Amino acid sequence: MDTTKCYPLLEINLNKISDNTKYLVDICKEKGINIAGVIKGVNAQPQIVDVLVEGGCKYLASSRIEQLIGLKEKGIKKENMLIRMPMRHEIKEAIQHIDITLNSEVKTINLLEKECKKQNKEHKVILMMDLGDLREGFFNKDELIDTALYIENNLKYIKLYGIGTNLSCYGSIKPSYENLNYLCEIAGEIEYKIGRKLDIISGGSTTTLPLVLDDKIPDKINNLRIGEALLVGRDLIDYWGYELNKMHKDTMILKAEIIEIKEKPTYPIGEMFLDAFGNKPTYEDKGIRKRAILAVGKQDFVNDRDLVPLDEGIEIVGSSSDHLIVDIQNSQINFQVGDIMSFGMFYSNTLYLTSSKYVNKYYIQLEELEKEYA
Ligand SMILES: *Cc1c(COP(=O)(O)O)cnc(C)c1O
Repeated sequence: MDTTKCYPLLEINLNKISDNTKYLVDICKEKGINIAGVIKGVNAQPQIVDVLVEGGCKYLASSRIEQLIGLKEKGIKKENMLIRMPMRHEIKEAIQHIDITLNSEVKTINLLEKECKKQNKEHKVILMMDLGDLREGFFNKDELIDTALYIENNLKYIKLYGIGTNLSCYGSIKPSYENLNYLCEIAGEIEYKIGRKLDIISGGSTTTLPLVLDDKIPDKINNLRIGEALLVGRDLIDYWGYELNKMHKDTMILKAEIIEIKEKPTYPIGEMFLDAFGNKPTYEDKGIRKRAILAVGKQDFVNDRDLVPLDEGIEIVGSSSDHLIVDIQNSQINFQVGDIMSFGMFYSNTLYLTSSKYVNKYYIQLEELEKEYA
């Protein structure tokens, strides 16, 4: 069976991910910033990870320890970073397989030290400062500084590697010169007290890149942990409005097959209750419209609002676990049952689509493109 004809199909263009990576690694390098490639958004697909490594990422990072261990086992040797605080049961494996962890609890750091001693191994930590986004990190700057001094002066195996912050996750707070400069001031204070430079000041994720592009990033920031901009590349262009002609926002395309085409009313008929997921949606009556149903659903992509139809005149109407309904009334294309429709996507879709076993994955690689063009 030709698996490139098995749908739903996620077409992953490794060349485009490579372009995004090389472009961002370069512009960050100019500002003295290295990149940790965050791979959780693509379920650590090794083909993609290779591209990030080859493109110049200094570290590989994930919040899921299994993904990082899996890559080590596949022989990928890049220095790795666990970007979610380790759980109790992960302590042993963290010391065994992980080079750097992000931390904000002394209790956990002490457990890591103990395990290091057992394994006679050193381990680097980055202390996280919460600058207002209200997810992980010390909220109190003195507490972070005290912890840094505690590690530096009292722990033998745990090495204070640096400090970092995370923004735009829970609280949707924008990184700014001001909040990141505050992080740098804290770093300066620690450096003064320990009498040496910290190795890493990690200033956030994809949403910090606008400060890099606008030349407004504080000098002291020397690392960013980037996922979306490398892997999908859509946010800087579609959300932030940057014109980046060296970047691609169509690194991944979902292809799905049409299994029904009918003209139907747009307003459901009968007494309304709840949809398949217990929600009470609202419906707009647009009269009779031509609609197609595709064999792909929420189980695969979760949010249909983040899918971007690539054919003109197509509008996503809604979805259930295994069906996606699209309005094709205004399309110039004469779609037929059995035809394939393509969608671009935002980060949330890649997160789910890459981890679904029901979605066939197809990788486009440099050699193949060359063949196509030859
Ligand atoms: C997911 C994550 C990132 C990467 O975020 P992107 O928006 O994909 O760049 C960076 N740091 C931490 C702590 C994360 O959890």
